[in-house]
Amino acid sequence: MREFSFHRAASVADLPAGATIIAGGTNLLDLMKHEVMAPESLVDITRLDLDRVEAEGDGLRIGALVRNSDLAAHPTIRRDYAVLSRALLAGASGQLRNMATTGGNLMQRTRCPYFYDRRMACNKRDPGAGCAAMGGVTRNHAILGASDHCIATYPGDMAVALRALDAVVEIDGPSPRRVPLADFHQLPGDTPHIETALQPGDLITAVVLPAPVAGQHRYRKVRDRASYAFALVSVAAVIRLDGGTINHAALAFGGVAAKPWRDPDIERLLTGREPSDALFAEAADLLLRPARGQGENKFKIPLLRRSLIATLRDATGMEATA
Ligand SMILES: Cc1cc2nc3c(=O)[nH]c(=O)nc-3n(C[C@H](O)[C@H](O)[C@H](O)COP(=O)(O)OP(=O)(O)OC[C@H]3O[C@@H](n4cnc5c(N)ncnc54)[C@H](O)[C@@H]3O)c2cc1C
Repeated sequence: MREFSFHRAASVADLPAGATIIAGGTNLLDLMKHEVMAPESLVDITRLDLDRVEAEGDGLRIGALVRNSDLAAHPTIRRDYAVLSRALLAGASGQLRNMATTGGNLMQRTRCPYFYDRRMACNKRDPGAGCAAMGGVTRNHAILGASDHCIATYPGDMAVALRALDAVVEIDGPSPRRVPLADFHQLPGDTPHIETALQPGDLITAVVLPAPVAGQHRYRKVRDRASYAFALVSVAAVIRLDGGTINHAALAFGGVAAKPWRDPDIERLLTGREPSDALFAEAADLLLRPARGQGENKFKIPLLRRSLIATLRDATGMEATA
């Protein structure tokens, strides 16, 4: 790890220009130890007044410093946004969730091993260097939305649930604004080093949830170990039935792309229809139409298909499958 200066900010106005934000530090410190990130100055934001969950209209405003464990346990989240609570609890470990913050979780970097290994070419770490993952070990890589320049995935769980909930990210900085989570994380294209909609000097101050949707909330995460492992694939679902017909279907997918993936076509297909295996198979076909394997990760295509179908069966009261 290289030398850096450290400042503890007392207010949002007190953030030094050019400093790298540190919140829980659970991702940033690892990246600094591997020298993937080498900031010259750090600003600790954990004393800022951004650690409340409060009502906003019919929805909720979650401060960027709310810890993952506190958010998962919050009574309103557990009751009205259960998919979010479940996704948070599926992530990392108890100790990590006690430190990790809402803003830091959104901003966590990919777990592509070539990104972490500075001896390997990586367009995300070093634009124009190439991508050693292509033709390499690709078990955890993307099957949707990848490009010729990068096949890394966004690894988080929380953001997958937030995508299904139509969350919005509140940003302070030179241009204060709100950005739908759908537009926050970026697909790689030919600029894989640009991962989010944040600009220099920006600070995430909150995540805002719209009014809750009553219905069945599910988060299904498939991983190599039962805990303390990132998703191979995950499915966040909010499904509401009315008289035997699906009248709300929000589905987001993790572990498969550089951002939490959502496909409005499959939601349109499901809405207004009665649950059936034939319908769910059709939805899976539609979802996977653009999917491309990258060698070792081809298993993710049938895995995502089975995970979607199992989640839909479970959420609509059909007998769950494995
Ligand atoms: C062993 C291990 C296992 C894990 N398993 C999982 C898992 O299964 N699922 C999962 O989802 N996650 C997992 N994680 C990742 C963990 O969730 C993240 O490390 C954590 O959420 C990051 O939050 P933080 O507050 O510690 O961020 P930090 O490490 O402090 O910061 C991370 C990044 O966010 C930026 N940042 C932080 N706050 C803000 C802000 N308010 N505005 C703008 N930028 C900001 C920082 O500059 C930095 O670039 C795991 C981590 C470890 C170490």
